[in-house]
Amino acid sequence: MTQIISGRDISTEIRAELREKVSVLKSDYGVTPGLATVLVGSDPASQMYVGMKNKAAQAMGIHSEQLTLETETSEEELLGAVEELNGNPEIHGILVQLPLPDHIDEARVIEAIDPSKDVDGFHPISVGRLATGSGDYFAPCTPAGVVEMLVRSGHDPAGKHVVVVGRSNIVGKPAAALLMRKAVGGNATVTIAHSRTKDLAAVTRTADILVVAMGRPEMITGDMVAEGSVVIDVGTNRVDDETREKGYRVCGDVLFDEVKVKAAAISPVPGGVGPMTITMLLANTVKSAGISVGSVV
Ligand code: NDP
Repeated sequence: MTQIISGRDISTEIRAELREKVSVLKSDYGVTPGLATVLVGSDPASQMYVGMKNKAAQAMGIHSEQLTLETETSEEELLGAVEELNGNPEIHGILVQLPLPDHIDEARVIEAIDPSKDVDGFHPISVGRLATGSGDYFAPCTPAGVVEMLVRSGHDPAGKHVVVVGRSNIVGKPAAALLMRKAVGGNATVTIAHSRTKDLAAVTRTADILVVAMGRPEMITGDMVAEGSVVIDVGTNRVDDETREKGYRVCGDVLFDEVKVKAAAISPVPGGVGPMTITMLLANTVKSAGISVGSVV
């Protein structure tokens, strides 16, 4: 029978571990991990994501602060707010919700975050440290969640051929970097595929583990995967569906019912990678608080 890799269950397991760590940090080190989220504008999806992150942090005993700024906020004002959070000793993690309004240079804002508080893992220093395997850094949350799902479901990528479909800076590239690094959850032989890849199916069929982050609803079909492979679907797409009350349904980049028949293990959408992203944000915040007091909890 095909194993369903539930991000929801693995998330619950990790959050229980984190709750323990938070309690040790409080009792033994006198520090409460602190997360600051910064939201610019009133995009409903961004508002929802930031709300979910704060709620999850609070449920964990993490101190969380949300800074909400108007859409018209200038880049300088936003940089000033980031600078203030950099200097705030109660804050160990800073998350600026993306995308930012068009008049603000996202790269400049990300680079303004103190790398020791960069719990999203998007600062060039974090990216560089992940690539070189040196120093303390925070791995980007979604790909870090993918690695946790593989390891905790019994599919350590070491020595396996992993094909990652997608090369974005937030998912595809860091997923490949994590999976190839010399560390637990790494040591895989990694191939990255993208929109210019010739004969995508021929490449995906060579995967022991297939990680899909394309943003193309249900594009990976049964004939594109190897018998007995492990498939992690990062895709989160809304497609019209008049049979649903809301008029849409959420699906992944993988045609679940077809691929499930061939795969040994597969993650669903929803309930797969989605819940892991916030969990890894919490994990990075707890790790940051631990580093700040020299603890390795
Ligand atoms: P991007 O659009 O930034 O990147 C998509 C990647 O897929 C690109 O590298 C693109 O190639 C590649 N691609 C697109 N079409 C094809 C194709 N036909 N064949 C091969 N490769 C293709 O998306 P993201 O990485 O930001 O996100 C990917 C998916 O993951 C989305 O559905 C997103 O919603 C979801 N996501 C889910 C998260 C979660 O928490 N669960 C978090 C983040 C993302 P090229 O570079 O050549 O254009």
